[in-house]
Amino acid sequence: MGAAVMNIRVRKGDLVRVISGKEKGKEGKVLRVFPEKAAVVVERLNIYKKHTKPNQKNTRGGVLELEGKIHVSNVMVVCGQCNRPTRLGAKILSDGKKLRVCKRCGEGIDHENR
Ligand SMILES: [Zn+2]
Repeated sequence: MGAAVMNIRVRKGDLVRVISGKEKGKEGKVLRVFPEKAAVVVERLNIYKKHTKPNQKNTRGGVLELEGKIHVSNVMVVCGQCNRPTRLGAKILSDGKKLRVCKRCGEGIDHENR
């Protein structure tokens, strides 16, 4: 894992708000993180339709709705305390663990994901 991973602060389970692009202003939960692409997949956002051809199981074919990747620079983590998108900082706990904190209010944001 190289330097690219260092820039990824968003984690699976985070609530994020999209700050640019066609889904701007919408919020959702991070389903997957792609560190090598600096991208995330967010629940029910950036939906694209994939047409499936009819086959023996599904004789009519149809349209699958899938979540597309969103670049991490287009999303911000939403703080559960402020209820607003925020930049994240880091706090080192006495046991040496790193806690991600909201830069607005200083509250840890990770507890909500457990
Ligand atoms: Zn906050």
